[in-house]
Amino acid sequence: MLTARRYRLNRTPEQADYAETVGGICRAVWNTAVEQRRAYRQRGAWINYNEQAGQRADAKTDHDWLKAAPSHVLQQTLMDLDRACRDHGTFKIRWRSSRRWSPSFRFPAGQQITMERLGRKWGRAKLPKLGWVRLRWSRPLGGAVRSATVSRDGRDWFVSFLVEDRATTPERHAAPNSAVGIDRGVAAAVATSDGDLPDREFRSSGEAKRYRRLQKKLARQGTGSANRKKTISAMRRIKRREINRRSDFCAKTAHQLATRNALVAIEDLHIRNMTRTARGTVAEPGRNVKQKAGLNRAILDKGWHKLQLAVENVARYTGTTIVKVPAAYTSQTCSACHSVSPNNRESQAVFRCLTCGHTEHADVNAAKNILAAGQAVTACGDLATSRSVKQEPARPQGPAHQPALALVGIPRL
Ligand SMILES: [Zn+2]
Repeated sequence: MLTARRYRLNRTPEQADYAETVGGICRAVWNTAVEQRRAYRQRGAWINYNEQAGQRADAKTDHDWLKAAPSHVLQQTLMDLDRACRDHGTFKIRWRSSRRWSPSFRFPAGQQITMERLGRKWGRAKLPKLGWVRLRWSRPLGGAVRSATVSRDGRDWFVSFLVEDRATTPERHAAPNSAVGIDRGVAAAVATSDGDLPDREFRSSGEAKRYRRLQKKLARQGTGSANRKKTISAMRRIKRREINRRSDFCAKTAHQLATRNALVAIEDLHIRNMTRTARGTVAEPGRNVKQKAGLNRAILDKGWHKLQLAVENVARYTGTTIVKVPAAYTSQTCSACHSVSPNNRESQAVFRCLTCGHTEHADVNAAKNILAAGQAVTACGDLATSRSVKQEPARPQGPAHQPALALVGIPRL
């Protein structure tokens, strides 16, 4: 199975300078190639990778600055662009601006890359042109390197290896009849149908305070000033720590969920987006309530997507089946008697059924509904033919699914 391993580089200043240069050249090549593709499309024509790669090779004789970057890295950039244009359409591809884009480039030839462990904490990798680069040995490589991507995140440089680890997805999960439904929580980050509410603090109160102070400072600083840059990078460092904690939380939660359960039912994010009004949100009082609520949701969505990806990743190793179910009404349905009412919520955190009086943590109740919907979909035999977690089998379509969904009392969209 192909998997990614990321390490923080302890590069020398020269190596950082060189990496920055290569990143800059890749950016220029990307932008020129995007422009060229757009111009072709506007004329109703199409330019492919081979043609662009040929032109880039010719351009090397006229433009010396292109020579600083390894050829195969630039070719890879053009290949990535080709893929992106085919997948998303030429006009949807973003221009890489020097301010927004952090440098990143890929060495496609894995056989040119060697990894060595130097001690308990340190190792080194030999990358083309960059030579030996020390890196923080945070985990073993565990397989043969296929390619390596060097990228900068703030002040730190990282290398991410694509590794073939020779593992295969097991035919059966170790605990075949186990299942869990998960819902994104409002109070806690995640709620499971077992009643667990895994959560952690992503930003400490001190960091929140510092962040607010920096925001105020930023508002007073002139655009383009050196001090403004300093403030922005200080803010980014706080944000980065928050993102790292979130990734860590997602990885650990996903590992627990997938190793313990043969079936994981989650809500389908896209459907949730369409039915946003169906669910209450934490609307802050004051100005711009709507915008703020929208922002809160955007952040929730982001963390949710990360968790979903993490579960999908672990599921490749455990054989867990992931079922995505429509999220509509999961928060308004009683998990005990299946009655649906928007008034079934006593508050944001407490669910109380108006029909049977069933009282539960609101997110756990929703998670139970998600689990029931997920089990109904698998019982329909949707997954009997293909158990691939890469597919999205759960979006119910056609009359065959109607009884199953009616069973759990979740009205169709
Ligand atoms: Zn009820």
